[in-house]
Amino acid sequence: MTPELEKSLRDDFKSLFEKVDYFDCGDGWEPIVRELSSKIVNITDKVRATCIKQKWGGLRFYFNLLQQELDRQDYKKLEADIDQLVKQAEDKADQICEVCGAKAAGVSSGFVQTLCELHLAKQKAHSLTNTYEKSLEKIDALRRAQAGDGADWNRLIVDPIIEHRKRAGLPPDPKIVRQPEIKTETSNENRRSEAEDL
Ligand SMILES: [Zn+2]
Repeated sequence: MTPELEKSLRDDFKSLFEKVDYFDCGDGWEPIVRELSSKIVNITDKVRATCIKQKWGGLRFYFNLLQQELDRQDYKKLEADIDQLVKQAEDKADQICEVCGAKAAGVSSGFVQTLCELHLAKQKAHSLTNTYEKSLEKIDALRRAQAGDGADWNRLIVDPIIEHRKRAGLPPDPKIVRQPEIKTETSNENRRSEAEDL
């Protein structure tokens, strides 16, 4: 999900999503997640979502109840009610394109996703070559990072994660660390002339 959509969900449902690291599904499902969230917070403030993601083409919404704050009867009843709401939302997502929110036409193979006719065709045409080229590029970048130049690794892997977390209003992840980069002659020169300009 784009960081902007993710942030608006977090802003609107602060305590519900306080334990969620990442909304790992496409923008097309944001309205479904939003509708489900509204229904949940209308019933109770004792739910904490733990994980929202796409798995095998379907939406998954995992949650915990604040057990200590509920007596046993309430807990059972509430758990059943929320389970039912989540199930309804997940069923709905099976009918909706994960990318754009249009009516779904099927499920793509390879990277399994529920998609509309257009995005299904697009994905079929591009996914094979795209995935292949991207993974070659990443393997290459990793190899260079291990050899001491992490410039491409930072660009492909590290910076996008740092940028995403920043835009989604999340604190930096200590596990995500930029790798040392070897500066080329040109970039050193550029920096020198920039410094002189100042
Ligand atoms: Zn679509």
